[in-house]
Amino acid sequence: MRIALYPGSFDPPTLGHLSIIQRGLEVFDGLTVAVLKNPAKDALFTVEERVELLREVLGNDPRVTVKTFSGLLVKFAQQENVRTVLRGLRAVSDFEYEFQMANMNRKLDPQIDTLFMMTGEKYFYISSRFVRDVARLGGDVSGLVPPVVQAALEARFAASNAAPGGSTK
Ligand code: ADP
Repeated sequence: MRIALYPGSFDPPTLGHLSIIQRGLEVFDGLTVAVLKNPAKDALFTVEERVELLREVLGNDPRVTVKTFSGLLVKFAQQENVRTVLRGLRAVSDFEYEFQMANMNRKLDPQIDTLFMMTGEKYFYISSRFVRDVARLGGDVSGLVPPVVQAALEARFAASNAAPGGSTK
């Protein structure tokens, strides 16, 4: 069985992520979607909420498992016994960071390699950060995220906008 690890923040999961997962499943027998627990990052959804959203969106496809990890990706890959990391590339601006990270990971564990998929033309402009910003400002995010994620975003911002002081977090 060829399994790849697809790591990311997924805050929230977008159609861009889903497209990479679907295309990844054409190449690999299975994928482990690994949600990074990063306390330093200014998150909208908790890690548990992101895992739940991913599970809802992915349905019960036995080929995909959603897990969380913290710390070094290579250590998690070793624990999982997986040697391939899958990443999506949107633009030249993604390239430098991804290039450095892929090489750093390979330096840390030469058995682990990273495979990149170019985003489709429908998704190249979608990032979780922009989705969060658009939703926070009341913009329409249908076509950027799956319906369950759209509903979660609407609920999150409806609740915060109704709160005294209108906090957006
Ligand atoms: P973001 O950068 O949107 O916050 P993540 O950190 O969750 O996303 O990214 C996880 C992986 O998914 C990364 O490899 C990232 O490049 C990829 N990815 C994110 N959005 C897209 C997209 N629209 N098309 C292709 N790949 C994407």
